[in-house]
Amino acid sequence: MALHIYNTLSRTKEDFTPLRGKRVNMFVCGITPYDYTHVGHARTYVTFDVVARYLRHRGYSVFYVQNVTDVDDRIVTRSAESGTSWDELGNTFLEDYLETMRRLRVSSVNLYARATEYIPEIIEQVSGLVEKGFAYQVDGDVFYEVDRYPSWGQLSRVKQEKLRAGARVEVDERKRDPRDFALWKAKKPGEPTWDSPWGPGRPGWHIEDTAITITHFGPQYDIHGAATDLIFPHHEAEIAQAEAFTGVTPFVKYWMHGGFVVTKGERMGKSLGNIVPVQDALDRVEPEVLRFFLVNTQYRGPIDFTFEALDEAQSAYARLTEALGRARGEREDASKGKSPGDAELRKALKNATQAFHQAMDDDFNTRDALGALFQLTTAFNTAVERGLSQTVLQAYLDAFDVYGRVLGLFRTPTGVSSDLLQGLVRLLVGLREAAREKGDFETSDRVRKALGDLGIELQDTSKGPRWRLT
Ligand SMILES: [Zn+2]
Repeated sequence: MALHIYNTLSRTKEDFTPLRGKRVNMFVCGITPYDYTHVGHARTYVTFDVVARYLRHRGYSVFYVQNVTDVDDRIVTRSAESGTSWDELGNTFLEDYLETMRRLRVSSVNLYARATEYIPEIIEQVSGLVEKGFAYQVDGDVFYEVDRYPSWGQLSRVKQEKLRAGARVEVDERKRDPRDFALWKAKKPGEPTWDSPWGPGRPGWHIEDTAITITHFGPQYDIHGAATDLIFPHHEAEIAQAEAFTGVTPFVKYWMHGGFVVTKGERMGKSLGNIVPVQDALDRVEPEVLRFFLVNTQYRGPIDFTFEALDEAQSAYARLTEALGRARGEREDASKGKSPGDAELRKALKNATQAFHQAMDDDFNTRDALGALFQLTTAFNTAVERGLSQTVLQAYLDAFDVYGRVLGLFRTPTGVSSDLLQGLVRLLVGLREAAREKGDFETSDRVRKALGDLGIELQDTSKGPRWRLT
C-alpha cells in the first residue's frame, strides 16, 4: 500500500512519490530562539520527528533540515528589552530548545541550520531577485515585488483584494504594493548587521529558509513542514522567492501543516499569553508521557491541552507500558515450548502490525496507530493469563520495539530494558527467594521494599516470583 500525505497545496491526500527515488529532502521551519520552548512547539517538532522516523522505517533515506531563525525582529526587540546581546540571547534559548528536544526524544533532524551562517547565500538570492526584476531597493531596504509573481496566493488561497486591504493597516509608503515584503532590512541603531550590496543590514525572515534549502537541496525538494499559522505569508513568500529565483516549479512537492495546541478553545501562542512551557508539563509527567499525549492525535487536528488531559494520557500510556513490563519480567522464566496463549497473541500481533502501518500510511495517523497498539495490549493481557512461550513473549517485545522506534515511545524507564538491569533485578529477586527459603524475612522484605522504591513491584505467584515496572 502506498503512503498518502495531505498536501496543503492541493488540499488533498496524495500518493507520496519523492522527486528522486527513495531519497527524501525534508525541511521544517524551526524556532526563533527568544523565549522558552512551549507545548505548541513541542507538538510541531514531535510531529515531524515521527514523520521522518516513519519515512526511514519505510526505507526512505531522509535528509531532514530545520532552520534556526537566530536573527529576527523578535530577537532584536527582546535583546533591547533585556539588555542581553542578540547572539547571547539566541544561544541561551537555542540550548533550551535542543535540550527539550533531546528529552522529548526528537532525534531525527540531520542539520540545525542557523540563518546567520547563510548570509552569503541570502545575499546571492536577494541580488538574483533584484537582477531578475522581482525585487527593488529603497534606502538600503530590498522588497519583493509581489505583483511580478503571478502565482502569489496559490498555497494560502487568500483572495488578493483582501490581502491588499489587510496590508493597508501598516502601509510603508516606500513599497510599490502593500503586499510587498522585505528581503533585506537596512541597518537600524543597535541591530546586528552584515555588509551587502545595498549597504549594511540584516536578512528578512522568509529569505532565510530559501537560502538554506536551496543550498542543501537545490531548487526543488520533497517535504516542507510547519504549523498551520506559517502558511501565510511565510510559506507563500518562500514559494515566490524560490520559484522566481530558480525558475523551477514546484519549489516544494508536499506542503505539510500541523494543527495547533489549544487551551480553552484558543490557540496556544505567545501573542495570546496562554502558553505552557514544556518544562511545566514535564514537572507533571515524564517526557515520554508528554510525547504520547502529543502523538495520540492525528497531526492535523487540534489538541486541547489541560493538565487533566495530561494525567489521563499518563494512565492510558501506563496500560501499554505495564503490559510491556510484564512481558519483560516473564520472558526469562517462560516456557520454551508451545503455550496455551501463543496462537491467540500471534494472530493479534499480525493484525496490529498491519493496522499500525495502514494508519501511518494514511497521512501519519498516529491516533489510529496507537489504537491498534491498545487493542494488541488487550489481547496480550488475556493471552498472558493463559500462558505464553518465551518465543511469543519475545515477538511481542520485538513488535513494540519497532512501533517504539517509529513513534519515539516505549523506552522509559530506559535502563530497565537493558540486559544489565534485567540481570540485576533477576539477581535481587533470586537472593530474596533464597533469604525467604531460609526464613530470613527481614532481608527478603528489605529487598522487596527497596525494589518497590525503585518502581519495581514483586508479586509472589504459584509459579514463583514475578516482577513488573510500576
Ligand atoms: Zn520558516
